[in-house]
Amino acid sequence: MIEIANPEEMQETIIGLKKSGKRIGVVPTMGYLHEGHRALIRDARKENELVVLTIFVNPAQFGQGEDFDRYPRDIERDRQAAIDEQVDYIFHPSIGDMYPEGYATYVDVENITETLEGEWRPGHFRGVTTIVLKLFQITQPDNAYFGQKDAQQLMVIKKMVSDLHIPVKIKRVPTVREKDGLALSSRNVYLSPGERQQAAVLYRALQRAEVDIRRGERSRDIIVGMIRDMIKAVGNISIDYVEIVDPVTFRKVQFLENNREHCIALAVRIGKVRLIDNIFV
Ligand code: AMP
Repeated sequence: MIEIANPEEMQETIIGLKKSGKRIGVVPTMGYLHEGHRALIRDARKENELVVLTIFVNPAQFGQGEDFDRYPRDIERDRQAAIDEQVDYIFHPSIGDMYPEGYATYVDVENITETLEGEWRPGHFRGVTTIVLKLFQITQPDNAYFGQKDAQQLMVIKKMVSDLHIPVKIKRVPTVREKDGLALSSRNVYLSPGERQQAAVLYRALQRAEVDIRRGERSRDIIVGMIRDMIKAVGNISIDYVEIVDPVTFRKVQFLENNREHCIALAVRIGKVRLIDNIFV
């Protein structure tokens, strides 16, 4: 496994490798790797001759007062995970190399970024799309792998790729969960044991919503109300949002339609930790 920090060096290396016709799979992450990231890497490993893992905690996607400074980092451990998963290249640039002084170019995807995470974290998606496009330019993937756990992010990136004619296939990887259903997240390490137990309610509530929908419930207000009640019953969890949206446009839905897919998404704060989760129904 080869580690590269310099963007130009990474790009030149990739351009050289592409000449041999190898397919390149890229897995963009912020590091502190867990089984969710590993699932992305494994899919990339299966479908490409070369796998590039990018590790960069991107300041542009964190708002003021968010957890950029205390986002967990452990490059030593990540390196070992990357070796275990047979990654070919790790690209982990410095902030100064990605956003040098005078940096001025940003990508904004409209509409789909207006709800949910976009509403609660203004500027977040602008940071995400900007860094992802930069990473695509540097690593020139044939395939890029994103988790369903960040469902809106995945669709925002798909929209950017389609609107800007970027020659990359976006691959969706299902959410990897703990035994009790909690979606794996680098931020879970900051949950106290008690909070960790409470956090399991999120997936329980989403699953309960799925059952209710299967039994015929179609009202957004009733489903969302039920999820909110289940979460509130657990105690010290503050809810940012619980919403039902169209899984492509991320527009809010008031009544679920038969024979259509919907995404139920939520974001909460447990102590200092902000968690998101979603299911497609
Ligand atoms: P992050 O390092 O949190 O920015 O995540 C990097 C990538 O891993 C994103 O595409 C995430 O959607 C994906 N990811 C994070 N957690 C999970 C999970 N539990 N299951 C599947 N993919 C995940």
